[in-house]
Amino acid sequence: MKKDNVKVSVVIPVYNEEESINMCFTEVDAECQKLNKDYEIVFVNDGSKDRSLEILEELASKHKQVKVINFSRNFGQRPALMAGFKMATGDVVINIDADLQDPASLIGKFVAKWEEGYDVVLAKRTRRKGESWFKKITSKIYYKVYRWITKSKTPLDCGISRLLSRRAIDNILKLSEHRIYLAGMTELVGFKQTVIEYDRDERRAGKTKYSVKSLFNLAINNILPYTSFPINFVLGLGLFLGVVGVMGLVALLVLLLCSVPFSTIWWLVAAITTATGVVTTSVGIVGLYVLAAYTETLNRPKYIIAQTFNLGEDNE
Ligand code: UDP
Ligand code: MG
Repeated sequence: MKKDNVKVSVVIPVYNEEESINMCFTEVDAECQKLNKDYEIVFVNDGSKDRSLEILEELASKHKQVKVINFSRNFGQRPALMAGFKMATGDVVINIDADLQDPASLIGKFVAKWEEGYDVVLAKRTRRKGESWFKKITSKIYYKVYRWITKSKTPLDCGISRLLSRRAIDNILKLSEHRIYLAGMTELVGFKQTVIEYDRDERRAGKTKYSVKSLFNLAINNILPYTSFPINFVLGLGLFLGVVGVMGLVALLVLLLCSVPFSTIWWLVAAITTATGVVTTSVGIVGLYVLAAYTETLNRPKYIIAQTFNLGEDNE
C-alpha cells in the first residue's frame, strides 16, 4: 500500500527506563506501522544512570526510524521533550512516556483527530491506575487552583501526552522561556485543539521518576509564567488593609469628637492596620514592576497567525 505523504514523529523522554525501553519501542513501532505513513521515533536519554543508553544505541543501530538524543546529564523530562521536539522532523509530533502509562494505542487516535483538521490533540485520563491516593488528590486540588488563578481552559486530567501539528510545534519552540510547562505553552499557542479520552495504565516496569519534592517545584514553576494572581492578591490585600485601617482611624476620631469612651488600644490596632496596608500595597506595587520586567524577559510573541487570506505567501 502506498504511504501518505506525511511523516509522524514520536518523541519519548527516557530516564533510567532500562526495563521499559524495548517494550516501549515494540509497541510504539507497531502502532506507527499501522498508520501507513513515514515515521520516526525520537528517544531523548535524559542522563540515565542505568543501561538505557546502551539499549537505545542498539535499537538505533538496528532500526533506522529510531533517533536518539543523549543528554550530558539529567536535565528533566521537560527539557528532554523540548530537545525531542526540536529535532523531530515530522509534519506532526506526538509525545508519550517510556513507561507506556499513556498507551501506544493513543498514537492512532491522535493522528485520526489530526486528519480531521486539529492542530493540537490532548489526552484526558478517565481513570488513573497505579497512582497513590496522595498523588491523585494533590494533583486534583492543584489543577483546580491552577485553572482558577490562571483562567486556564485546558480540561482537567489531561496528561502530558499530546499531538502537535508542525505549526503548533514550531510556535511552541519559539517560546524562549526557561520555565517549560507544556500544558501552558500548548494553550498559549492556540490553534484548533481537541481532547480524546483514555484510561491511564499503571507503569509497566520501574518506578516513577518524580519525588514529592520535585512535583512541588514543578507546581510552582508551572504557575509563575501564567498568572499575575499572587501579585494582584498582595496588592488587593494591601489596599484592603489600608482602607480598613484608615476607616478605623476616622471612626475613632468621630468617637473622640462625640466624647464616646473607648479603649486607647484601638488607636494602636487602627494605626498598625493602616501601616501594614501601606507596606503591603507598596510591596504589591513593586511586584507589578517586577511582573512587567518578567513578562518582557519572557519575550513571548504578541500574536500568532494561523493563516491569512489574499495576502500572499510572503506574509503568512
Ligand atoms: N523522565 C525524564 N527525565 C526525568 C524524569 C522522567 O526524561 O528527570 C521521563 C521518564 O523516563 C518517563 C517520563 O519522563 O518516560 C515520565 O516520567 P514518570 O513516568 O516517572 O512520571 P509519572 O508518570 O510518574 O508522572
Ligand atoms: Mg509514568
